[in-house]
Amino acid sequence: QSKPQARVDGSTGVRFSDVAGIDEAVDELQELVRYLKNPELFDKMGIKPPHGVLLEGPPGCGKTLVAKAIAGEAGVPFYQMAGSEFVEVLVGVGSARIRDLFKRAKVNKPSVIFIDEIDALATRRQGIFSESTNYLYTAATQERETTLNQLLIELDGFDTGKGVIFLGATNRMDLLDPALLRPGRFDRKIRIRPPGAKGRYDILKVHARKVKMSPSVDLYTYAQNLPGWTGARLAQLLQEAALVAVRKGHDSILQLDVDDAVDRLTVGPKRVGIELG
Ligand code: ATP
Repeated sequence: QSKPQARVDGSTGVRFSDVAGIDEAVDELQELVRYLKNPELFDKMGIKPPHGVLLEGPPGCGKTLVAKAIAGEAGVPFYQMAGSEFVEVLVGVGSARIRDLFKRAKVNKPSVIFIDEIDALATRRQGIFSESTNYLYTAATQERETTLNQLLIELDGFDTGKGVIFLGATNRMDLLDPALLRPGRFDRKIRIRPPGAKGRYDILKVHARKVKMSPSVDLYTYAQNLPGWTGARLAQLLQEAALVAVRKGHDSILQLDVDDAVDRLTVGPKRVGIELG
């Protein structure tokens, strides 16, 4: 079985201009970019380096995107892994992966470590009572605890790794082990909220830049009329609209292509060959 490796990218190429609808979060995260660009300055000025930042919010609203943008803006390597990649039944594998991840990030500092779905590895510790009222742990639970402890050790020893930012993301804050939320581990928790109408408009404009869109398409009205749509869904909408346009032989995306794409994403593609009524 091959060992999962943190995906590294010299620079992610993602910029804050690729992120829309979460301006407050972006404002707060600018400081991390300033730090990564010049960790020595923070040191010289006696400013405590930022430790970890927890990004919390529903899926598809830009947690991964904004994490990549921090690395991209600072032009530093980005080490990404998912919490589930640390969950192994084999004893010691998860904690070895944590050690390896932090080691590699420190060697290449300044850098960013990003663990998505951090709840998978940092679930609130639970025990099962045995007859003797001692906790009985399954092997898997024990292994996960070892992995979580290793993460806590790495976070506590972060001062030695100056120039490394640790970002975690979750949409299940309630599941996280309180030990991870203690001060000094995650300095900051930043909520990444689903976009409102203006946010949806801004997100559509960002993604419209990446496709060939007719200027006549009224993105503002779509933003108003698609409540609850996340950034991921809006990005998918314009990709789908581009596919529809190609299928219909249009040389740019027209309003009716976007309408068709909204229908497809809302109710699925029209069934061919089934006549109703
Ligand atoms: P998950 O919890 O499922 O990992 P996430 O919050 O990390 O979700 P992303 O993976 O960042 O979501 O979003 C997926 C894609 O959706 C992005 O790569 C981007 O194309 C688009 N997207 C999501 N949010 C935004 C946003 N705020 N601005 C622009 N694009 C966005």
